[in-house]
Amino acid sequence: MQTKSSSSHLYHELSDLEVLKTFNSDVEKGLTAEEVARRLEQYGFNELEIKQGKPAWLRLLLQFHQPLLYILLIAGAIKALLGSWTNAGVIWGVTMINAAIGFIQESKAEEAIASLSKAVTTEATVIRDNSTIEIPSRDLVPGDIVLLVSGDKVPGDLRLLRVRNLQIDESALTGESLPVTKSVSPLPAETTLAERTNMAYTGSFVTFGQGKGIVVATSEATEVGKISQSLDQRVNLNTPLTRKFTKFSQTLVYVILALATLTFTIGIGQGESWVYMFEAAVALAVSAIPEGLPAVVTITLAIGVNRMAKRNAIIRKLSAVEALGSATVICSDKTGTLTENQMTVQSIYAGEEQYSVSGGGYSPKGEISCDLQEPHSHQSIDTLSPVLEDCLKAGLLCNDSHLEARHADWMVVGDPTEGALIAAGAKAGLSQAALNNAMPRLDVIPFESEFQYMATLHRDGEESQSERVIYVKGSVEAILSRSQYQLQHDGQRVRIDRAFIEDKVERMAEQGLRVLAFAKKEVNRYQHSLNHEDIESELIFLGLQGMIDPPRPEAIAAIDNCQSAGIRVKMITGDHLATAKAIAQRMGIQLGEKVLAFSGQQLSQMDTATLVKTVEEGSVFARVAPAQKLQLVEALQSQGEIVAMTGDGVNDAPALKQADIGIAMGKGGTDVARDAADMLLTDDNFASIEAAVEEGRTVYQNLRKAIAFLLPVNGGESMTILISALLARDLPILSLQVLWLNMINSVTMTVPLAFEPKTPGLMQKPPRDPQQPLLTKRLLRRILLISLFNWMLIFGIFEWANTTTGNIAIARTMAIQALVAARIVYLLSISSLGMGLVSRFRSHSTLITNTPMIVIGIATAIILQILFSQWGLMNSLFNTAPLNGHQWLICLLPMLPMIPVAFFANCLDSPQS
Ligand code: ADP
Ligand code: MG
Repeated sequence: MQTKSSSSHLYHELSDLEVLKTFNSDVEKGLTAEEVARRLEQYGFNELEIKQGKPAWLRLLLQFHQPLLYILLIAGAIKALLGSWTNAGVIWGVTMINAAIGFIQESKAEEAIASLSKAVTTEATVIRDNSTIEIPSRDLVPGDIVLLVSGDKVPGDLRLLRVRNLQIDESALTGESLPVTKSVSPLPAETTLAERTNMAYTGSFVTFGQGKGIVVATSEATEVGKISQSLDQRVNLNTPLTRKFTKFSQTLVYVILALATLTFTIGIGQGESWVYMFEAAVALAVSAIPEGLPAVVTITLAIGVNRMAKRNAIIRKLSAVEALGSATVICSDKTGTLTENQMTVQSIYAGEEQYSVSGGGYSPKGEISCDLQEPHSHQSIDTLSPVLEDCLKAGLLCNDSHLEARHADWMVVGDPTEGALIAAGAKAGLSQAALNNAMPRLDVIPFESEFQYMATLHRDGEESQSERVIYVKGSVEAILSRSQYQLQHDGQRVRIDRAFIEDKVERMAEQGLRVLAFAKKEVNRYQHSLNHEDIESELIFLGLQGMIDPPRPEAIAAIDNCQSAGIRVKMITGDHLATAKAIAQRMGIQLGEKVLAFSGQQLSQMDTATLVKTVEEGSVFARVAPAQKLQLVEALQSQGEIVAMTGDGVNDAPALKQADIGIAMGKGGTDVARDAADMLLTDDNFASIEAAVEEGRTVYQNLRKAIAFLLPVNGGESMTILISALLARDLPILSLQVLWLNMINSVTMTVPLAFEPKTPGLMQKPPRDPQQPLLTKRLLRRILLISLFNWMLIFGIFEWANTTTGNIAIARTMAIQALVAARIVYLLSISSLGMGLVSRFRSHSTLITNTPMIVIGIATAIILQILFSQWGLMNSLFNTAPLNGHQWLICLLPMLPMIPVAFFANCLDSPQS
């Protein structure tokens, strides 16, 4: 028996029987429930502790790693050298508080994102107590027998026991990018990890085929567990936007340094004192830096992530939040994302007869009736024609799913497409279980989108003891091209008439039915296993079954929303062209009057230029091979589109990675797709993509609001200091006071903007141009306007108070309090609370949202400002002075002119956009 310390490095040497013996397991029956419980106790859960990339102290220190903060730290040091220890202490203290806020916010954001993606658990298919079950891979124990199919993430270190064309991508572990073909025979002891073809390692992905293996190591004992860095799941908080901010602040630093030096030299040249000029230069540098901005950006992004999670979109990479806000095209799967994935067979064609099937859902209630010549007339059938029966049997036997009755309702366990076939069989009185008993399955080729068919090999018990039969089901193209015969009404085998059948298919598909074709092949008794070559040709075509899959009503509404938001929706599906087109029509996916639909085959024959044009114009792409999805994304991106793309299969991974927003399904789909995606949908629903886009736009809107709010204060302060220094007047505001305004006051008042709800009309505008700079012309004009106002305010109040009171500390305090008072009005003017108040005033509507956050922000700011001037300690730290009632009133006066100015600013640049 394996002990906790023993490693798996020997298992590749042992034969499968020896390994099974070591772990006391059984390849057919698996472990018993008691044994599993015991081993779980012994080995613990199969999960790796998520390693923190950098220690907390280093991350805290890194908060200071910003050019803007360097300036502050140096300014503090120089102050200290000059002997102003209090000044230096306050500068450092405020910087510290700022770093702490940044640190806490960042950690919270990371944690939130990490826990969101953890909420989507990986499942493992295991054999326990003689039956195949799905378990969370966390519950896996050594000795468990695991089944692998393509798309799975290997849940533990496995010694492989059975393989069929099994290929595994081990790049995460070995760096080898090509998938490794696996085998089962023992290997020499010295074989290196990358060459142990009879092992499958935790965290690698099955890209092809199937396999069965026994778990030899879990959690920390696995190969990844030993080198655990490779599972470092820390979230990257870097996004294009934060990089833009970094660049912005770097440029700003140069401008500031240049300006400060210039002011300093001019002042000295004019004979000003060193101390005065130094204070002016520092104050200028500090005033121009929007210190609160990085924290606000992170908070806004993190809030966006949370809001998206509430609307079923789990963000795995933060950059997706921004990309969502500027998405121009959404390429969506049809089945399950746009449609319900609730399949019901409605129409069958078999043995030259067309049948209608009644009933809904997966219940066996319903009838199969034969369609008569006159339209809409049916004749009920008493006995099944042999051909119809064979067609239904094919659907039941060539099937990996089953139906279960739950709460008086029938549910599919497995693939809904297959569930529909079982229900159709049941309506004709056929039972899947009985058939499986009578004709046991010997082998299977499971369905893969790439091949578009599934095949099973059965012992044909009824007719003759020794014969074997293969049943195949799949897309019409895949089956017809392999069929040479078809069955007449009386069961007579004749040569196939493909054109005739294709015409039937077309008619079914035009009604939006998903059509599957069925075929069989009789083979001799020596056939024990099934390969793709066995069904290359000579199949006997049995019939067609057409099923409806109703569109999701909420998806229809979401498509409409996307289209009015200037986002084009394209359907990409493996389904038949006519089916896809009919459904697209019903869902309103189109550009102009009609739905432009293309098949994968048409696309493959186009040159690049035509392809790009077609992909831009078309709205439905059917029978698209997974590899073509990548081409589609690239074609769209070459036109400057920002592409969101959904995917579920193994082969979708490259397209998901290439797309600006790769979207995988949280419920359906493969682990491979989930791993490659930037975002997961917990409900697999198209409407959630639209919701995420909406939230992405809201994030951007709120960032703009934050910038529009923050920068004018910096602008006003800098102008004041620059002008006063150049005029050689007393500085209306000191560097420490600037710090207070920019860090403490700005952060309390700006953070609520991150919580702003979406503004009405957000989804009626075209997507933001991703090339558009952060500071648009309109935004700059707004900032300039308010900055000017702020300058006049600070300068005016200071000069007036300085001359009337003769007390410079009081004059400075009044200038600051007046600035904050006006700022409150300005904050209201860009917040939804302010908008709501105005619209209520105008039209008596109640549009007030986000009230609490804004109110809390303003209330906190007011309390802090009162302390700032009325508390002795603050007076000595920040050189402020207590104000009397009369002075306070004067400070409130600038709120009045701010009202029209803010209105004017809203006309220049609406905060709604
Ligand atoms: P989509 O999910 O976009 O409809 P798929 O790649 O899943 O595309 O399916 C492509 C085609 O393969 C379907 O139109 C159908 O004809 C066939 N098909 C789908 N599921 C199965 C299955 N379980 N067994 C056999 N054939 C299937
Ligand atoms: Mg599918």
